[in-house]
Amino acid sequence: VLSKKIDEPKNMKLVHKQDGDTDYELANATLLSLVRNSELEGIVSSIRQLEETWNWRYNYPFTFINDEEFTPEFKKGVEEVCSGKVYYEVIPKSIWEKPANIDPALYKSGIAKLAANKVNYASLESYHNMCRFNSGWFYRLEGLKKFKYYWRVEPNVNFFCKVDYDVFKFMRDNELTYGFTVSLYDEPLTVETLWKTTVDFCLAHPEYVHPNGAFKWLTENQQNPHSTNGAGGYSTCHFWSNFEIADMDFYRGEAYSKWFDALEAAGGFYYERWGDAPVHSVGVGLFEDKSKVWWFRDIGYHHSPYENSPHSDKCSTDHEPGYFAPPDVYDQNCLPNWIRYSM
Ligand code: GDP
Ligand code: MN
Repeated sequence: VLSKKIDEPKNMKLVHKQDGDTDYELANATLLSLVRNSELEGIVSSIRQLEETWNWRYNYPFTFINDEEFTPEFKKGVEEVCSGKVYYEVIPKSIWEKPANIDPALYKSGIAKLAANKVNYASLESYHNMCRFNSGWFYRLEGLKKFKYYWRVEPNVNFFCKVDYDVFKFMRDNELTYGFTVSLYDEPLTVETLWKTTVDFCLAHPEYVHPNGAFKWLTENQQNPHSTNGAGGYSTCHFWSNFEIADMDFYRGEAYSKWFDALEAAGGFYYERWGDAPVHSVGVGLFEDKSKVWWFRDIGYHHSPYENSPHSDKCSTDHEPGYFAPPDVYDQNCLPNWIRYSM
């Protein structure tokens, strides 16, 4: 199957903007990046590639968010490479910082355990803030309220296949909620009680669970060396959220919002290191119809050390078809589970 070249999604609604179409109406969407001033060079590199492969034709706006003011130098740098409007948003401290319900002693012992097990970023408080913010807060920012769809972009990622159709209209017109390129198993220690907290919530609120959720995908972990039983029944397979194209109205909806409140109350963003990737994935997997999740197999994407590598004439990569990562981490790929269990 992998030797067969792919092009654009088949049997789906696709909109192509024609050259010289000056009246083209954009979907209600923004490119989005939470980024630090110090990452200017890396984000410019990512934007350049996204513009060259796709957005030069559409000129979708870009929203930059930060827990500090962006510097004039940062603004000048990104405005030179963005083809659409640019917006900036500073995150209020009340949203970004560790909330008052977090018990300092439990936080301290929690991160000590993670650090002792060499979990990345365990003791970096800003990383916990970032994961919590990306899990349940970014779409509530004043400047994001006007948008429905976002495409998340990180510094130092690569886009290496030409995409001709309007990706946001693809989401809209095919009624999709969540799009991804790469999916991985997680380090179970970072989400040790996420599943238990979630199951408790679902037992109390069964009405929120979607009858066509991706239950098997969330729980089957037969060929998973990384997440035996450490995550309490969650396979730890998740969509890698440094790339995501999604509908924020899903997060804003009652099911996800109420569930997120329960996660906040449990405190796992700090006592453990719940990532926004497993949180979005568990939320989408339980509270949305799995047919509304889309693997963008045609979008060439790389964030070290993994990638989605389409076999297509539209790509400028040298990798062989299906390349995912250096061989020593190949077993972290759980895309086969999604393919198996999402149909
Ligand atoms: P990793 O991919 O898990 O190693 O994490 P990253 O360091 O790439 O962080 C994820 C995203 O959040 C990137 O877009 C970073 O620029 C952004 N980010 C992480 N920490 C902070 C922070 O403290 N402030 C801001 N403004 N952005 C952050
Ligand atoms: Mn990153």
